Amino acid sequence: MTLRGKTAIITGSNSGIGLGVAEALAAAGADVVLNSFTDRPEDHALAVQMGQQHGVEARYICADMSKPDEARRLVSEAGACDILVNNAGIQHVAPIEEFPPAMWDRIIAINLSSAFHTTAIALPMMRKAGWGRIVNIASAHGLTASPYKSAYIAAKHGIVGLTKTTALETAGEGITANAICPGYVLTPLVEAQIPDQMKAHNMDRDTVVREVMLLRQPSRQFATTEQIGGTTSFLCSAAADQITGTTISVDGGWTAL
Ligand code: NAD
Repeated sequence: MTLRGKTAIITGSNSGIGLGVAEALAAAGADVVLNSFTDRPEDHALAVQMGQQHGVEARYICADMSKPDEARRLVSEAGACDILVNNAGIQHVAPIEEFPPAMWDRIIAINLSSAFHTTAIALPMMRKAGWGRIVNIASAHGLTASPYKSAYIAAKHGIVGLTKTTALETAGEGITANAICPGYVLTPLVEAQIPDQMKAHNMDRDTVVREVMLLRQPSRQFATTEQIGGTTSFLCSAAADQITGTTISVDGGWTAL
């Protein structure tokens, strides 16, 4: 498959899943626009290195997805958007009565509303080209719930709904919109939690991963950023032309339970 000549914008792509998705799309030949809210030399260096490695154009655009105007600016500044991957996301864990209202607003803004804003600017570009792919990185928590993650779960269920609506509004126009619902993915963020969990449960790494962290993931194996990147590439391929408005779980069986 080649995505040569296509431009992909991936929100929240200077680490973890977003970076894995950007790598996969660049490896398939797409020009990529990386993003996060920081503007450090290493953010721009990441794009330069990716571009050199895959022989594609790669840029980093700093834009804060918690701010509607910045989300919209990201897409307009990119100037082209054939593939839009809404990935930026944060988490906060607390019971509803203790959940800080400002944190609720921030999670909804980054994990849900930013995707509305980027999509609104990207759709006219995709319609003009007669082709487009929108891939929203939701979560197993877009389909099922856990306690203490109210804002995250509301946002992830919301993005599944936004995905379906986007698919209906673009059906038959060469544009598809789908959500990927990962279970636990081994990102630096998750990796960093392992030592604390080992200490808290007095278990070795393998046991704490299997028996605590992956309790709800029947495979008892993490998904990888490469697998999420591969699923995104598939959704951008011709084989997926008629796949739209759906969710694809990459969760080791979590949502089959
Ligand atoms: P991560 O923290 O490694 O990556 C999050 C990315 O979002 C980073 O690049 C970060 O800089 C960026 N970001 C955060 N706030 C931002 C803002 N205001 N503006 C722009 N960018 C911002 O985490 P991850 O695990 O790679 O998560 C990526 C996505 O995948 C999230 O939407 C998350 O909910 C989802 N997800 C992760 C897992 C998992 O187990 N890791 C599982 C299911 C879904």
